Amino acid sequence: MSLADKVVIVTGASSGIGAATAVEFAKVGAKVALVGRNEANLKATEVSCKAANNKAELLPIIADVTVDAERIIKTTVDKFGKLDVLVNNAGYAEAGNILDIDVDQFDRVMNTNLRSVFLLTKLAAPYLIKTQGSIVNVSSVGGIRAVPGVSSYCTAKAGLDQFTHCIALDLAPHKVRVNVVNPGTIVTNFQRRMGMTEEQYAQHLERSKETHALGRAGEAKEVADAILFLASDSASFITGASLPIDGGRHVMCPR
Ligand code: NDP
Repeated sequence: MSLADKVVIVTGASSGIGAATAVEFAKVGAKVALVGRNEANLKATEVSCKAANNKAELLPIIADVTVDAERIIKTTVDKFGKLDVLVNNAGYAEAGNILDIDVDQFDRVMNTNLRSVFLLTKLAAPYLIKTQGSIVNVSSVGGIRAVPGVSSYCTAKAGLDQFTHCIALDLAPHKVRVNVVNPGTIVTNFQRRMGMTEEQYAQHLERSKETHALGRAGEAKEVADAILFLASDSASFITGASLPIDGGRHVMCPR
C-alpha cells in the first residue's frame, strides 16, 4: 500500500474511528500524529499503535481542533519534517428539533465538524503540495441523507462533503487528492456522547439491523480500512470522491 514512512495526522485519534485509523496507519509503518483532547484516551491509542507495530513513530498532540489547528500542523512538521496525509476525523453531534435548539448549538457543531476542517486543510495544504499527499475527511451518512432531530450535524456533514469536492478541485493541479468517507452507524462512543443512554444505544444498534442493508452496524476498523485505501497509492486516480461505509444504508428507502 506504500504508506510506510508517510507522515499522517489523525484528528480525533483518542476514540472510535480515529483510534482505529491511527492503529492501522501505525501497522503499515506510517508516522502518526495522534490528535485529541483526552490525554488518557490518547495514551491508550498510543499503546494500541505500539502493540500493532512496536517500531511505530508516534506523536500525541493534546489539542482542540477548534482552536489549535496551527499548533497541530506546526508540531507535526517540526517533529517529522513533512506531511503526507491529513485525516480530518474529529467530530461530534448534538440532537434537537429546530423548534427547540438555538443558534449556539448550530455554531458549536459547525465549529467542530466543518470550520476546524477548513483551518486544518488551509494550514496543511502547502505541506501536502510538497509531498503530493492527500486528505481524507470523515463525514457521515447524515451528510447525504436527512435524519430528523440532528439538523446542525447533518448540515455540517453535508457542508464537509461539498468542501471535500471543492478542495479536491482546488488542489488537483498540485496533485493533492481529497476524498471523504460517509460512515453509517459505527460502534464507537459517538452516540453515547450525543446523550443516548445505554438502553437507547442498545435499541439504536438493534434498529441498525433494519436501517443498514447488510443487517448490522459497522466496526471502526471497517472505516479505517477505507481511509487507508483512499490515502494510499491504490487510490492514485481517486479524488473528489464520497465513499459510503454504511452497509448500504444510503441506498435504502423506507417502505
Ligand atoms: P467518538 O465519539 O468515539 O470519537 C470522536 C473523536 O473526536 C474523539 O477522539 C474526540 O476526542 C474527537 N473530538 C471531538 N471534538 C474534538 C475537538 N474539538 N478537538 C479534538 N478532538 C475532538 O466517535 P467516532 O469515532 O464515531 O467519530 C469519528 C467521526 O466519525 C466523527 O466525525 C463522526 O461524526 C463520524 N461518524 C461517526 C458515526 C458513528 O456511528 N460512530 C457515524 C457517522 C459518522 P476527545 O475525546 O479526545 O475530545
